[in-house]
Amino acid sequence: DTRPKDLHEAPHELSDIRHVIAVVSGKGGVGKSLVTGLLSVAMSRKGKHVGIMDADITGPSIPKMFGVSGEVRGSEKGAYPVTTAGGIDIVSMNLLLDDDTDPVVWRGPIISGVVKQFWHDFIWEDVDYMFVDMPPGTGDVPLTVMQSIKLDGIIIVTSPQELVSMIVEKAVKMAEAMKVPILGLVENMSYFECPDCGKRHAIYGQSHIEEIAKEYNLDVLGRIPIQPALAAECDAGQIETTEADYLDEATAKLLALDE
Ligand code: ADP
Repeated sequence: DTRPKDLHEAPHELSDIRHVIAVVSGKGGVGKSLVTGLLSVAMSRKGKHVGIMDADITGPSIPKMFGVSGEVRGSEKGAYPVTTAGGIDIVSMNLLLDDDTDPVVWRGPIISGVVKQFWHDFIWEDVDYMFVDMPPGTGDVPLTVMQSIKLDGIIIVTSPQELVSMIVEKAVKMAEAMKVPILGLVENMSYFECPDCGKRHAIYGQSHIEEIAKEYNLDVLGRIPIQPALAAECDAGQIETTEADYLDEATAKLLALDE
């Protein structure tokens, strides 16, 4: 039998997780975490109980964005995520380090092991949608995470600064190999909207996201402009009260997973 083995690992026996969606990108800094945060806030506003697993172990930015710094609680049964003011459950390396400015200098296999622990040692109670903020790229760690955790789908975040077709191609191949559907693309830093005249400026040149989506038969689930105010809200830990709202197609697609 040469079929790939099902390597999916079971979550904690007390966990109850209905949908798991991985958010991926080609490299760091394109706004994968910001998109994970905005997707989580949008689904939470739809009345869904959301969990975020911050699997970007060496660059964890989710806790800061949500303004949580609390310590993870544990009992003999397992560990518990930290809950935000808006009721989103978060697990992140940043909530486990004594000093969150300590760099994480581990190698791939150890990092993959930590992500697996986030999955099976934590008690994720009654989670409708879990978003996994993946390590950037298509290397060993994201592959291991995708093999270990049974995903409903992945969302690819790109920015017009990148060679988008190459990134999408790689992500499509990875998803095919892992037999996980791609829910669609989100383009971040898509354009800049002038606060004075309202005109949209394509700072990084014209976007090719629609053509690329067509070429690979994928949906565009949102285009997010460069918004200094949004970055400021993230820095201040206030993403849950943002008025930024660019992900209607994405939320519709995610809600449809329940039907
Ligand atoms: P990644 O997870 O891909 O490494 P982040 O989501 O952490 O990237 O974003 C990197 C930086 O860029 C952060 O400081 C973030 O606030 C900022 N940023 C991301 N998207 C936008 C945007 N649309 N407008 C303004 N700033 C943004």
